[in-house]
Amino acid sequence: MGKLDGRVVIVTGAARGQGEQEARLFTAEGARVVVADVLDEQGEALAKELGALYVHLDVGEEGDWRAAVTAAKDAYGHVDGLVNNAGILRFNALVDTPLDEFMEVVRVNQVGCFLGVRTVAPEMEHGGTIVNTASYTGMTGMAAVGAYAATKHAIVGLTRVAALELAHREVRVNAMCPGAIDTAMSNPALLDPSMGTEETSRALDELYRGLVPLGRVGRPEEVARLALFLTSDDSSYITGQPFVIDGGWLAGVSVI
Ligand code: NAD
Repeated sequence: MGKLDGRVVIVTGAARGQGEQEARLFTAEGARVVVADVLDEQGEALAKELGALYVHLDVGEEGDWRAAVTAAKDAYGHVDGLVNNAGILRFNALVDTPLDEFMEVVRVNQVGCFLGVRTVAPEMEHGGTIVNTASYTGMTGMAAVGAYAATKHAIVGLTRVAALELAHREVRVNAMCPGAIDTAMSNPALLDPSMGTEETSRALDELYRGLVPLGRVGRPEEVARLALFLTSDDSSYITGQPFVIDGGWLAGVSVI
């Protein structure tokens, strides 16, 4: 028995990183997964490996969302879960951030989550689940990622409102707030085929050793396990909450 037997779950940004690990774990737990991304080659290869469905979905595009839901229902008959995982990060001081850059981060991170909730929730039967990927920076500030932090705070707000509005249909909506996680977003060296993954991950752990109480960055597999908890019946009485998964980073500072 898998924790997601019989369920159909769309995971956005699933071609790599946390979304990939969510697609892998959910498939192992019995779900039919819809792998959605703009990285078609990688997404298609993963879907083929998992026996899943791949859809090209730019989360900022309304038409792509409609097409993705139609494809999911044509293939599997229903949609029971959504993980809004797709996201982008840009580094800039707020006073140096061009409007185009700010709006692109809003389009993908914030509008993407909104369109996901708006398009997929009406298709869900009672017992549906939505997991929005916010961030540690959805709970606190971080210099140089102002556009990103603004969208991640917005996702926490959107999650709470969606939970209130969808509770009468027993559709639960929660958010994950990861700290530094070892994916291409925090560790771009992972995209360089000439670099060993273990070596780059060790270097990143070293960087965070003094910052994070648990002394390392998180692994995408660890976030996937939280997404599984929030998508399965194990969290049946939980809705509208942000879940921080950050190795203790947000707990406070140490002075000695
Ligand atoms: P990643 O860059 O490896 O993965 C992001 C995925 O989103 C990629 O597959 C990418 O192609 C996809 N994507 C980007 N724009 C898209 C669009 N317009 N439509 C559809 N897909 C799109 O990074 P990740 O760490 O796996 O990121 C997953 C989520 O976790 C993001 O929302 C990110 O903001 C969040 N997050 C990451 C960290 C971290 O340290 N890595 C920390 C906190 C939160």
